[in-house]
Amino acid sequence: MELRKDPITQSWVILGQREARGDAPEECPLEPAKIEKLRPILTWPAEGAWQVRVLPHPDPLYHIEGEPGRVAEGMYDKMVALGAHEVVVETPQHDRRMSQFSDEEIERVLWVWASRIADLKKDARFKYVSVFKNQGAMAGEEWPHAHSQVTATIFVPRRIKYELSSAHEWFKDKERCIFCDTVRQEEKQGKRIVDVQGEYYALCPYASRVPYEVWLMHRRHNHLFEQARPGSNRRQLAALLGRVLRRLEKVAPAYHLVVHTSPNTKNKKGELAGYWKTLPDIVEKTSKSYSIKEVYFNAEMPEQAAANLRALDPNS
Ligand SMILES: [Zn+2]
Ligand SMILES: [Zn+2]
Repeated sequence: MELRKDPITQSWVILGQREARGDAPEECPLEPAKIEKLRPILTWPAEGAWQVRVLPHPDPLYHIEGEPGRVAEGMYDKMVALGAHEVVVETPQHDRRMSQFSDEEIERVLWVWASRIADLKKDARFKYVSVFKNQGAMAGEEWPHAHSQVTATIFVPRRIKYELSSAHEWFKDKERCIFCDTVRQEEKQGKRIVDVQGEYYALCPYASRVPYEVWLMHRRHNHLFEQARPGSNRRQLAALLGRVLRRLEKVAPAYHLVVHTSPNTKNKKGELAGYWKTLPDIVEKTSKSYSIKEVYFNAEMPEQAAANLRALDPNS
């Protein structure tokens, strides 16, 4: 596996073959009987019956050993595919989807995500920690058993870099946070809001890239998903996420969920140096399309998508 940078789009691309997997295993590899034999990275709750367990990915895209340096190849840059790749088993039960979890169960998964982000950010080699969930065959899920994935990379994914540099420009211009401004604007207009829980909002973004794109944002600024604001309430985020997922499942057979948080600021050299200085801030957002396409065609207007989602009963 190696990472190559496209000098034109600035994207890092992983190239190489994953280990041959042969035929799909007949039995689910995430069953408790199987994974209890493996050494977990994290188990939650730590005592008694566990709900969430984190394991190394059996066929990782990134490997933890190696040096992060870049190597020039003529005009190009490449790096070894250094990083971490973990699987979060969200429940011991094979046929329960996250949308069917109680608020408390979703909160446990959120807590595990936060805890893995915080832990991986202690490694200064890692510039960004991604948490994502592909649910459904059409979204490219690896196994049907409810799970999500965590990757720590030695580069900041391009989409995140774009968000940071736009936020930076906005701040230079207005001395305000672009994400907080977005929430204010949506709050005022209301027509793209899907649902609200406490100070958390679920909304279809103004320029939705795909049908039923939904962002979950807090009203008050926080750039660290892994570090809940004092007085904030992750149970509310869990409740809102559960309802949004139940609505989405009524209109879509599959979805991507992505957590957005700030990059690792341990190592301020290199890529981050330019846009981090005046930007201590990027807000948490979950449940976003995880697409690598750059030009989007979306036939579903976000105002209509929000209205459709609002009209669906998440509790039936
Ligand atoms: Zn299973
Ligand atoms: Zn903000």
